[in-house]
Amino acid sequence: ELVSTAILETRGLTKQFSGFTAVKSVDLSVKEGTIHALIGPNGAGKSTVFNLLTKFLVPTSGQIFYRGEDITSVEAASIAQRGLVRSFQISAVFPHLSVRENVRVALQRKRGGCFDFWRSEKILDQYNDRADELIDAVGLSEFRTHTAVELAYGRKRALEIATTLALEPNVMLLDEPMAGLGREDIGRISALIKQSAKGRTVLMVEHNLSVVADLSDTISVLQRGEIIAEGTYAEVSQNPQVISAYMGS
Ligand code: ADP
Ligand code: MG
Repeated sequence: ELVSTAILETRGLTKQFSGFTAVKSVDLSVKEGTIHALIGPNGAGKSTVFNLLTKFLVPTSGQIFYRGEDITSVEAASIAQRGLVRSFQISAVFPHLSVRENVRVALQRKRGGCFDFWRSEKILDQYNDRADELIDAVGLSEFRTHTAVELAYGRKRALEIATTLALEPNVMLLDEPMAGLGREDIGRISALIKQSAKGRTVLMVEHNLSVVADLSDTISVLQRGEIIAEGTYAEVSQNPQVISAYMGS
């Protein structure tokens, strides 16, 4: 029935919190292979949409489609298994494991879910090469043996991206990837997202509009739970409704 090339789509997605409509009949269409940003002033409903897509919340009404399949009632774990992976929250990093251990555990998790990883050195050994590839790809080669807690904030973000990539996502959902980062790290993580997006789809919520402008193919602007504009950065940033939404916030 779906005719678009969307990999991820919502129809009439609605979420109410005790009578208050935080997300109001949102039709979102994320095209395969694109970087798509969800922006909007504080309280617009961005996090709620994200939480609905990743099953942290149950919609009041509406549907979610992934690759044409209605996944509205599919549980979080099997959505991740299908390749729809949320970074940062789900792929939380273990603070006292090394960079390499964290990536190896993520690779194992992709294979078999939970297991007694601290006693399974031999099982994890099979992931050494792939782990090192991912660590190199995110620029953490020098930090391989450092524990996650020892890493500076931006490096930790890079590790989170590596553990997300270990889960072989088709769609990466990034919730404010630049939050808390300084200028240098923003540049580095932006480049990393761009690189990670090759052959994948990325949907991100991001406040930093210059990052959004730089990375996004398509931008959806939310205001008070509704999409008020959609298009390239050049298009939405000229939209009078978008301008007044940001001025008014
Ligand atoms: P954004 O991420 O765009 O800043 P949110 O999705 O966090 O916005 O919130 C949208 C609206 O829904 C806000 O008005 C917020 O107060 C409300 N809201 C979010 N989560 C809850 C909740 N669990 N219970 C009640 N209201 C909520
Ligand atoms: Mg939010």
